Amino acid sequence: MAQLLNAICYDGTWYHISLAEIEFNRDDRAITKCFIVRGAYSLLVSQVPQAVDYVLDLVWHKQVSLKVSVFAWRLLRDRLPTRLNLISRRVLSPDMSSCVAGCGHPESAQHLFLSCDTFGSMWHLVRDWIGCYGVDTDNISDHFLQFTLLAGGGAARRSFMQLIWLLCVWVVWNERNNRLFNHVVTPIPCLLDKVKLMSLGWLKAKKATFVFDTQQWWSSPLVCLGIG
Ligand SMILES: [Zn+2]
Repeated sequence: MAQLLNAICYDGTWYHISLAEIEFNRDDRAITKCFIVRGAYSLLVSQVPQAVDYVLDLVWHKQVSLKVSVFAWRLLRDRLPTRLNLISRRVLSPDMSSCVAGCGHPESAQHLFLSCDTFGSMWHLVRDWIGCYGVDTDNISDHFLQFTLLAGGGAARRSFMQLIWLLCVWVVWNERNNRLFNHVVTPIPCLLDKVKLMSLGWLKAKKATFVFDTQQWWSSPLVCLGIG
């Protein structure tokens, strides 16, 4: 993949455009500050559908079940029945917007999966486990793309990070539902254990090549996959 650059578009959403494409445009005409701004803007507008499509394509992964991919697709399109979405459809009354974690914030998808002090802390734990570092953006599509690219390296690393992101949002959504409907609370560090266990199961089910025992998976997943 070409090196990606974050760029903000007219509707306030962040998109990713290729540096190579910008270089091409800059070579094509005289470089003036004004042109770069106009050129970048036009390029962005023309790239928006492809950028969105690219992130949506990431939901499909050969080692991830169809139900999880469909769930992630709904998440990226903001089609999950979060409390704010149910309020906007008049299914819930406006006074029922609170996040199930008890943080006092309204439950949107962005809040639940990224900015909630409880559920959002998952990402830090997961990055620690994998051994890579980064900051969380407040846009779900951006977060998915950046997380997928976080470990750098080749396709195998990107594929693993993509799988982990899909698994994390799946685990968070199930925990949210457990808290809401079954009144069962699982501490966040235990959710990380679920991520470790389930990722192992998903990878083994599809016969990924492993060079380790299960214990090692708990501390060094990239090394275990031979891509550390
Ligand atoms: Zn919350």
